[in-house]
Amino acid sequence: MDVHLEAALQSFNSRYSSEQACMETLIAMKWPSGFICPRCAHTRCSRLTSRRIPLFECGRCKHQTSALVGTMFEGTRLPLLKWFMALELFLLPDGISAMRLSQVIGVTYKTAWLMLHKIRHAALEFDARELLYGEVKVNSDQYGRNPSRCSVSHPYATAVTVACSVAESGELQQVKIRLVPHKRGGDERATRRDLTAFIDEHVDAGTSAVQLFPQAFRLYAPLRKVVREAWQSLKSTYGALGVKHLQAYLNEYTRRRWLRLSGTVETMRHKLLQICMAIPALPYRQLIEVQRKQPFAAVS
Ligand SMILES: [Zn+2]
Repeated sequence: MDVHLEAALQSFNSRYSSEQACMETLIAMKWPSGFICPRCAHTRCSRLTSRRIPLFECGRCKHQTSALVGTMFEGTRLPLLKWFMALELFLLPDGISAMRLSQVIGVTYKTAWLMLHKIRHAALEFDARELLYGEVKVNSDQYGRNPSRCSVSHPYATAVTVACSVAESGELQQVKIRLVPHKRGGDERATRRDLTAFIDEHVDAGTSAVQLFPQAFRLYAPLRKVVREAWQSLKSTYGALGVKHLQAYLNEYTRRRWLRLSGTVETMRHKLLQICMAIPALPYRQLIEVQRKQPFAAVS
């Protein structure tokens, strides 16, 4: 078993020993300063613990709710321990494949695939809310281009817009990588117009220090490196990825990179849980639908 995975499982087992421990963690995250009724904002409640998922009944309007309502965990039939373990393994330096996850936590491949896509979906929604600001650089690059084969064509290369905010120290902070719809193959790139559209959507309107790098021979080098690293990391974990789900995997990569920059394992874990608590789960049908709507679905 690989060392990262083993270490992650060991640290997991020392922290969470029961369903109840996981549930209490989520309850504390949902209501950090005590229960608040989502309907009438009353703060007194009675806790009904006869069920697997504890219900809280508002002392005034009698509305019943649980800590999982409106979160990624809502409606799940899986034990929370399995979810928590999946989140822990999602944070491994190169993530985890659905096949491996299914073996480690003892669920079917389909369940593992669905869990990972739910986590990715939460990461995507959260990412869309966090705009880049401060000093921002934007490259027109290609994903999937083998750097050791400079002269040959790259039929699987895909045009991407990749951008980051840069700290005063020069270090890259948050990074976003977005596929440019319908532009595949070694010669395809995002145009200046594509980059502008990206900026409208992903860069804070108050940011004045945006620098564009639309030309292939003059890209911002640190960002090029991130795209190459993303390619290598995703390739090592998932093998060859079809373009159908590629955007979801790229979001996973950039989100993990950003979480891992956030400091200790403890902070990283806490932030990922916050994301899962903030973003409602997509039902299976819709999740599949979202995947289909990715820009390249028709050709993959
Ligand atoms: Zn109430």
